[in-house]
Amino acid sequence: MSSKTYLTYKPYRDFFNDLMNFIFASDCRVCKNLLSSLEEKYICKDCFSKIEFIKPPYCDKCGKILVESFKRIEKPLCRDCSSHKRHFYKARALGIYEGILREGIHILKFEKKVGIHKPLGDLMVRYLKEQQRNLISRIDFLIPVPLHRKRLKSRGFNQAQLLCEYIEKHLNLPVNLDLKRIRWTTPQMNLGRQERLQNIKGAFEIRNKGTISEKQILLVDDIFTTGATVEECSKVLLKAGAKQVSVLTLARGR
Ligand SMILES: [Zn+2]
Ligand SMILES: [Zn+2]
Repeated sequence: MSSKTYLTYKPYRDFFNDLMNFIFASDCRVCKNLLSSLEEKYICKDCFSKIEFIKPPYCDKCGKILVESFKRIEKPLCRDCSSHKRHFYKARALGIYEGILREGIHILKFEKKVGIHKPLGDLMVRYLKEQQRNLISRIDFLIPVPLHRKRLKSRGFNQAQLLCEYIEKHLNLPVNLDLKRIRWTTPQMNLGRQERLQNIKGAFEIRNKGTISEKQILLVDDIFTTGATVEECSKVLLKAGAKQVSVLTLARGR
């Protein structure tokens, strides 16, 4: 019988589940090897070290992986970015939304094991140390893509904010939380590009416009799908006077 049957009061339930995980679930979810240290949670360090960053050729605008023949072009663009205006300056994802990265994001978002934001955040820190200059010349603020308060209440945390706070701690970059999600939107999963843009329109607002003016901003999220969400966020930030908005996500689709 599951522990959840008995423990309905959330803080106790979470604590109990964490305790059970600590005692019993000590295998890596990916390679099934025993987790070797207390710091390792759910996925071992070895598996994390196997996550490969997306390599060129990829779209210089949105980071989409392109076929090998694009390698000869200096700043290649995907079909979407050559035919549509993008509001963000550049968007990059660390890897493709599959395998270890997908497992990690699921553990964080859907199983709500917040501890895994640390190794995931660590990947972002490593990426920024290696490749920030290809994404944005200077970062004045990190801004997490916000959740609507209804979603925040049901999940209990904003995964993008956890990642931002991890980067803040390790790269000494300030996090700004003035971007708010003011309108509830239906999940974007089954919508096409145009529908997604329409669906997300007017969903965001900035609380303190003065803080955004002339700033170079790195918008952070877990997944880049069609980019509709980060495009809308970028549009709102630029409207408030941001000088430049680039985007970094853990993963993206192919
Ligand atoms: Zn492993
Ligand atoms: Zn593109």
